[in-house]
Amino acid sequence: MRIVHSPAAMTAWSEGLRREGVTIGFVPTMGALHDGHRALIRAARLHCDALVVSIFVNPAQFAPHEDLATYPRPIAKDRALCREEGVDVCFEPTTTTMYPAGFQTVVTVPSVARRWEGESRPHHFGGVATVVTKLFGIVRPHLALFGQKDFQQAALVRRLVKDLDLGVRIIVRPTVREPDGLAMSSRNVYLSPEERRTAPIFYRALEAGRKAVERGVKDAASAQTIMRELLAGEPAVRIDYLAVCDPATLEPLTTIGRQAVLLGAIRIGSVRLIDNVVVKTGGKKRRPDR
Ligand code: AMP
Repeated sequence: MRIVHSPAAMTAWSEGLRREGVTIGFVPTMGALHDGHRALIRAARLHCDALVVSIFVNPAQFAPHEDLATYPRPIAKDRALCREEGVDVCFEPTTTTMYPAGFQTVVTVPSVARRWEGESRPHHFGGVATVVTKLFGIVRPHLALFGQKDFQQAALVRRLVKDLDLGVRIIVRPTVREPDGLAMSSRNVYLSPEERRTAPIFYRALEAGRKAVERGVKDAASAQTIMRELLAGEPAVRIDYLAVCDPATLEPLTTIGRQAVLLGAIRIGSVRLIDNVVVKTGGKKRRPDR
């Protein structure tokens, strides 16, 4: 496996392979790799001949009060996982090569980024959209894989690729969970043992919402109540937001039709967790906008 730090060297490697007709797959990450990332890497392998994983903790998507400084960076372990999974290139740019003096362009996807994570973390999606656009420009992949765990991020990336004609096929893969249902996340290491025992209530609440909708609850407010009542049973949990939305537009629903996504963010102590589940009811067909 090659470790590449320079964007120019990364592009040269990709361009060389593209000329030979090699299909390049790409999994962008912030490192601290776990089995969720591993699943994306394995899925990518099935669709490409050469595979690039990037590890870059992107300062532009963190607000000043957030956890940029303490974000876990176990680089030796991450490289070992990539080697184990047959990754061809681990692309590890530095902040100064990604954002050199004079850098000023920001990519925004206003409507997808407006609500939910965008409301709680106002600069976050500008940072994400900008870095994904840059990484696609540097790595020049044919396809890129993202996790459903970051549902709004995946929607934003799809929109941006379409709007800017980036020519990258986007594949979104299901959320990988711990046996008790907690979505795997690099931030789970911040949870104390007691908080860790509490955390699975989040997925249980989303699942209770999903089951209620599948049993015929059509009214988004009732689905919300079911989820909120479960979360209220855990005094350590504070809800940041909890939403019942259209999966294509991320606009809140009043009445649930054929599909919905139940998504939310909670805090347990100082740790913020996000998660979501998609519900399909098999009702009347509607064409999503993507
Ligand atoms: P991150 O390193 O957190 O920026 O995540 C990199 C990619 O891995 C993103 O596309 C995430 O959605 C995806 N990812 C993170 N956690 C999981 C998970 N538990 N299951 C599946 N994909 C995940």
